[in-house]
Amino acid sequence: MIPASAYAAFDPQSPLKYWDFERRAVRPDDVEIDILFCGVCHSDLHAARGEWGEMNRPFVPGHEIVGRVAAVGDQVTAHKVGDLVGVGCMVDSCLHCSDCEDGLEQYCAHGMVGTYMGVETGTGKPTYGGYSSKIVVKDHFVLKIPEGLDPAAAAPLLCAGVTTYSPLRHWKVGPGQRVGVVGLGGLGHMAVKLARAMGATVVVFTTSASKIDDAKRLGAHEVVVSRDAEAMAAEAGRFDFILNTVAAPHDLDPFIACLKRDGTMTLVGAPASPHPSPAVFPLITKRRSIAGSMIGGIAETQEMLDFCGAHGITADIELIPIQAINTAYERMLKSDVKYRFVIDVAGSLAKG
Ligand SMILES: [Zn+2]
Ligand SMILES: [Zn+2]
Repeated sequence: MIPASAYAAFDPQSPLKYWDFERRAVRPDDVEIDILFCGVCHSDLHAARGEWGEMNRPFVPGHEIVGRVAAVGDQVTAHKVGDLVGVGCMVDSCLHCSDCEDGLEQYCAHGMVGTYMGVETGTGKPTYGGYSSKIVVKDHFVLKIPEGLDPAAAAPLLCAGVTTYSPLRHWKVGPGQRVGVVGLGGLGHMAVKLARAMGATVVVFTTSASKIDDAKRLGAHEVVVSRDAEAMAAEAGRFDFILNTVAAPHDLDPFIACLKRDGTMTLVGAPASPHPSPAVFPLITKRRSIAGSMIGGIAETQEMLDFCGAHGITADIELIPIQAINTAYERMLKSDVKYRFVIDVAGSLAKG
């Protein structure tokens, strides 16, 4: 076994605190990673607080991991000691069902193994996330971080980046298209940068006029304040595709009305309670679709990282020591972050 340390949630109410634990010994197809940075996703907070059901405690969150390879098993050829690598939301899957064979491990018929809240194949032990000094992961699920990207700012690409990249690619966003991004948080700000780099005309929908300047700085061509009914009416029927990143329940109908015939709005935010049911008439009269999408497969995640390397895209981050994680959670709940917290794991965890 490999000694490791972490910040963990011991119960749903208490602040996260320091914890010593062990990672599994390196298997022939494993990569052992010294973690440098870990992004802070909203999922971390919801899971730590037991909002997604109870799980094994202590619970270690974190699925936007960047680190250096410390050791590899005998069969590993794709990664070597010293490489800058990443781990996202999953660390294992069956690799032989039709979903896995299509490179869509996140939709594995037998269930992907989450980087946290999962059960480790072979040992049956809980998986522990990236708010930790080390992680041991099957080589197939280890990504290469392009040289030239700031490794701290690249960490959020592993969840927020691929969560927005995958639907933009699947629905073939590109030049000549008018693409909407609903919400300008951790996911939304990545969607703006990626859709812009793909050549689309990017329009941000936000409830807050205070975000207009920032949206344009991030790459939006236009910004629509979605509380302004007149401004929304002016957008009716103009969009090829809308990526809705908002995790709070809200009325979907005003955005559906903005789609062209055959347009799609894809939801990537996961609300704790359902959105109000959308009206059917606006769907059938223009053959519009509502869809959902979850992260991306491993090959697509690597494609996204390489795309970001080629275009110089990373997240806008606020780097924090791990001791500040509980304060960061409180600030996230108030949307007081531009646009992602990233934990300086290597620079702070050793202090306890
Ligand atoms: Zn996430
Ligand atoms: Zn599978």
